[in-house]
Amino acid sequence: MTISEPLREGLPWDIVPGGNDDDHLREECGVFGVIGARDSAAMVALGLHALQHRGQEAVGISSYDGQEFYSRRALGHVAQNFSSGAAIAELPGSMASGHVRYSTTGGSGLRNVQPLFADLATGGFSIAHNGNISNAIHLKRDLVKRGAIFQSTSDTEVIIHLVATSRYPTLLDRFIDALRMVEGAYSLIVMTPEGMIACRDPLGIRPLVMGRIGDSVVFASETVALDVVGAEFVRQVEPGELVEVSMDGTVLSHHPFGNRKARPCIFEHVYFSRPDSIVDGSSVYQVRKAIGEQLALESPADADLVVPVPDSGVPAAIGYAQQSGIPFELGIIRSHYVGRTFIQPSDGARHADVKRKHNANRALVQGKRIVLIDDSIVRGTTSLKIVQMMRDAGASEVHMRIASPPTSHSCFYGVDTPERSKLLAAQMDIAAMGEFIHADSLAFVSIDGLYRAVGEKDRKAKCPQYCDACFTGDYPTTLTDLGERDQKQLSLPVEKVA
Ligand code: AMP
Repeated sequence: MTISEPLREGLPWDIVPGGNDDDHLREECGVFGVIGARDSAAMVALGLHALQHRGQEAVGISSYDGQEFYSRRALGHVAQNFSSGAAIAELPGSMASGHVRYSTTGGSGLRNVQPLFADLATGGFSIAHNGNISNAIHLKRDLVKRGAIFQSTSDTEVIIHLVATSRYPTLLDRFIDALRMVEGAYSLIVMTPEGMIACRDPLGIRPLVMGRIGDSVVFASETVALDVVGAEFVRQVEPGELVEVSMDGTVLSHHPFGNRKARPCIFEHVYFSRPDSIVDGSSVYQVRKAIGEQLALESPADADLVVPVPDSGVPAAIGYAQQSGIPFELGIIRSHYVGRTFIQPSDGARHADVKRKHNANRALVQGKRIVLIDDSIVRGTTSLKIVQMMRDAGASEVHMRIASPPTSHSCFYGVDTPERSKLLAAQMDIAAMGEFIHADSLAFVSIDGLYRAVGEKDRKAKCPQYCDACFTGDYPTTLTDLGERDQKQLSLPVEKVA
């Protein structure tokens, strides 16, 4: 699905929400903030390092020392940019926040690296955003007509302009006023001269947790970052909640959006979060194992070994092996010196990357019937290569089992997926997908199986409790930036390939 032409025409920016052209900016992110710490910037760098899996292309940290805001933003990993004392010394003060980002290219460069900063009538305003605003193009067009001059192509900057132009007197009211106009997914960490505000969109699509270390309050996308800095988990920031922490440490909670049924992203459990994080109160590792168990119950295979595609398939493969009684073995060894498959923007580069990243453990798989487990099939690139790799290494049969339902729809809320026409499951039914990847059999966990693994009886029990749009097409917000033609396309049944 592509954004409709009339919408694109005359737009002074190039942001397209997730799910569109490969050469446009999309974002997957992690955020971290701390207030009340002597070494706040160093703590943020450590926290972001634990969130590196959420974004590997750019990193930024901003700080405030009671007088001034400071900022250092760079392309690349946290360790490359924030491991020296000199880098941290540029960021003094007891309050700091940071951001890691993954985006496909598209001339984004440094100007899109967060936290973004602006001097507003109310004072300095720094913002770090995880998620994706699904009406950003509409809002931006309006703001530009009214004279706003944008410095970046990031959807996050829309929030800054909405805050700047709000007529409410206080920063908090302006911020709430701005967020009322925004649709989609946002977990935000904002810094002002008064303190830090952490908030989640009313559906709580992207995660955000709160912790404490000594007298400092910490916010992070995932609990793993709290663990790494030595902070104690306090609670998650609730969907629709704004937590305001003032410079003297007073914590206030606001719920300005009323009570809506939460729809946190189920894909955080499937792939995105680190397995040692607790998301929505559940251990990601345990959920992934439980998905593997469901998969074994729903789609057994006559095989000698259960082999995970490392690292994403490992917990589910353990669950599958324990449930089925088939031994778990590392039939594929992963090189840890290659980035994620998706990072390469062109198709050719992605193919080469799979080979550099994974290698068959030939001595183990030769002559064996293999159940191969991965978390998801997106374009099919990884599965196609890995099945072939198993065959080349002498596997006699390769049965592919996927620890999520078919990814048939694009995400518009901050998980990078290609446009719908590039999703294998949007083009083919499961039998055709199995043929495409040359597997002896292919099966996906059912949507109800996935819900059972996250602790719900079935998808409808909580109507549904999660955002599962990538598997069902059931988007929990309006997608204003999509043209009408594209909205209709969302509801089209998956076409079978003859
Ligand atoms: P593909 O090769 O296009 O079918 O992508 C599937 C592989 O990419 C799986 O091994 C997943 O672990 C991984 N994957 C799935 N979703 C994402 C994502 N949003 N970002 C990066 N990698 C992903």
